[in-house]
Amino acid sequence: MIDSHIHLRWPNDLENLDMLRQSIGAQNLGVVSVIGKGDINDNPALYAAKAAYPDELYIFPALDHAAHFSGGKLSTPTMARQIDEMVAIGADGLKLIESKPTHRRLVDIPIDSDHYEEMFARLEEIGLPIVWHVADPEEFWYPELTPSWASGRGWGYDRTWPSKESFYAEVDSVLRRHPKLKVIFAHFYFLSADLASAAQLLDSYEGVCLDLAPGIEMFYNMSKDPDAARDFFVKYSHRIVFGTDIEAGSSEQEAVIRAGIVTRWLETEDEYRVPEDADYTLGPPEDGIMRGIRLPKDSLANIYINNFERLAGPQPKPLNAELALEQSHRILEEIEAIEGDSEAASDSIKRLEAVVKK
Ligand SMILES: [Zn+2]
Repeated sequence: MIDSHIHLRWPNDLENLDMLRQSIGAQNLGVVSVIGKGDINDNPALYAAKAAYPDELYIFPALDHAAHFSGGKLSTPTMARQIDEMVAIGADGLKLIESKPTHRRLVDIPIDSDHYEEMFARLEEIGLPIVWHVADPEEFWYPELTPSWASGRGWGYDRTWPSKESFYAEVDSVLRRHPKLKVIFAHFYFLSADLASAAQLLDSYEGVCLDLAPGIEMFYNMSKDPDAARDFFVKYSHRIVFGTDIEAGSSEQEAVIRAGIVTRWLETEDEYRVPEDADYTLGPPEDGIMRGIRLPKDSLANIYINNFERLAGPQPKPLNAELALEQSHRILEEIEAIEGDSEAASDSIKRLEAVVKK
């Protein structure tokens, strides 16, 4: 199986990440980078990861918004140029989180604006897949329904925030202009409570897939009518991708629980709850009941392996460590210029330097 959606921030978690990979029974992982105001993005750590585990790790670097974060003091390559850079380094795809409310506020540029237009044209032209986080669970827009672990992280949106629909509208205008984009929408595009809309999306755009990384609400929503969920998953088994959202620094127990929640739902007809020892973003056991949909073997093979390989290739692209090092140095300089947190970038550079010297 391939876990398409894993996070890595600290290069020191790399060996732990490989242990987690084996513990959950994944032959490959897709590691995604996240933009941040203090550290620009996790790209240097992803490059160090690929240098260490070239056959196991696919990487999805993020964009560099240092020009924006520095108020125009720094200049960075255009968004399209950044895609070319990434490809030359050996990226297997792009991670976009600019359409999650908090990160949209950070960058403050609509995803369907001219700023990104050339980039999407390039992505469509070269067929580079995007792991794309858009919006958030519905509940986050209703304070009385927002789980405390989410509001505690600032993921609760009152009326000063854009609506969930406005994020879909922006993405829709991108897809209409670039209907051949290859996209894995993270967390089932937060449409688990509305499978009709999910079907409509998949029917409209042939390059679009949905990943299963919790958002635990996804499984509660779809467990309300397991038969309808099973029909959907069989019909669209070529458009759904396994993922977990595991953090590289997680304990083995947390990772195994997280992956097991997803695989148990796909493979069995069990009724079960989140185990007590799950990581806190899965919420407590009393939040809901999951009812598995026990998919046939061929559907599982599509979801676990085939769809991801169709999008990202049968094996990870080779890393150009020199170019990776070059971009990592630029990111480190940018972090220093904005007085951010440079620890992860400089540790990653040390690891990349060791590889380049060999
Ligand atoms: Zn994620």
